[in-house]
Amino acid sequence: MSSDHASPRDAITAARPLSRSLLRGAGGKCPSCGAGKVFDQYLKVIDECAVCGEELHHHRADDAPPYFTIFIVGHILIPLALVVERVWRPDMFVHMALWLPLALAMTLLLLPVIKGAVVGLQWSLRMHGFEYAASRHCRPQKPK
Ligand SMILES: [Zn+2]
Repeated sequence: MSSDHASPRDAITAARPLSRSLLRGAGGKCPSCGAGKVFDQYLKVIDECAVCGEELHHHRADDAPPYFTIFIVGHILIPLALVVERVWRPDMFVHMALWLPLALAMTLLLLPVIKGAVVGLQWSLRMHGFEYAASRHCRPQKPK
């Protein structure tokens, strides 16, 4: 099946592999074509893909990316902090100087990756307006 949809019915039933969509989104690429960008700015999702025209403004990532980012960063850094404390027992200043910048850097690096993956997930599962975006007959308006 081609990515160019011959009819609205083809667009509605076209395959949207989950893993491919997740990986494309995580890489900051359009989940549909893999060539266009997902983000216009740091975390601002573009309205439409510049390459294939897929409408990406239908996403509702909301609090999911920060939630998953906190979950991942916390599960990496907290065990490391506990091991460092247990083995070397450094001063609290060392902990603050080490873990706070590391947590900030990891969060800022992971957040767009995870938000892109969430957009890819929603697109793949035809969540929210992505289902209707596949059909050119009943396209909901972009929320204000
Ligand atoms: Zn695209």
